[in-house]
Amino acid sequence: MLSSQGTVPRIAVESLTGCAGELLVILENLDKLLPYVRVVSFPFAQSQNDSGAVDITFLEGSVSNPHDLEKLKRIRAKSRWLVAVGNCAVWGCVQKSACSHCKVEDMLKAVYGQDSKIEVLPSTSLDEHVKVDVKLSGCPINATQFLSVTANLLQDHLPYITHKPVCLECKLKENPCVLIEDNLPCLGPVTAAGCGALCPSVGAACYGCWGPSQDAQMDAMAVILQEKGYAIDEVLNRLQSFGAPAKLFERMKFEVKNERV
Ligand code: SF4
Ligand code: SF4
Repeated sequence: MLSSQGTVPRIAVESLTGCAGELLVILENLDKLLPYVRVVSFPFAQSQNDSGAVDITFLEGSVSNPHDLEKLKRIRAKSRWLVAVGNCAVWGCVQKSACSHCKVEDMLKAVYGQDSKIEVLPSTSLDEHVKVDVKLSGCPINATQFLSVTANLLQDHLPYITHKPVCLECKLKENPCVLIEDNLPCLGPVTAAGCGALCPSVGAACYGCWGPSQDAQMDAMAVILQEKGYAIDEVLNRLQSFGAPAKLFERMKFEVKNERV
């Protein structure tokens, strides 16, 4: 495994606005990569960091202020492969969801006071600003997927990442369905697989933290949950909480408006 320059691959682990959950997963699993790579930058975990060109950057967090945007562009320019890690980087996650529910200025005042001088931007995912080579969603990411993605990139392959729904993993585990049998508001049918159906495996409903699955049928999901007695606003909140794009909900909102007339 050599970089394009014929040397040991250089990797960087960086963050924008996020909770550091992905950084912790990467840190916990870094020992498995150390024989094959040089970690030249990981400000969360080491004090000596090199800002030069790298083969792979793993980048956590959403773009939520001008500094994030400037940093993202700098990182893109120096990285051969840019991997968005975690739901904030891939979808915008809860920051983006919060921005769609209230005004950023109101949140700033509530947290930092009337005279806050902090500059903010509405939270956005990385691919709204730059080309992203790999999107690894999760809240936080799954360690097995992280290692598999890295192994592929080190061999110059773009990895295959499934966006099939959580139900697929849930059925492979032969879990009883909590949506059908317990009437829990499980979002597994519209949430991307990757976690190994963690929540339904312990009898809990999936709340969508991996982001939407491919071709997620949000309107059908809302209808099923409504039939089970869940309020449509609660359903919408659940579905949007992890930053799924607004266009997925356009038809649902139309139906909701009609219903209320
Ligand atoms: S419990 Fe949830 S994830 Fe599992 S099959 Fe049922 S709806 Fe799908
Ligand atoms: S089952 Fe759903 S909520 Fe639970 S970890 Fe997986 S994607 Fe997240």
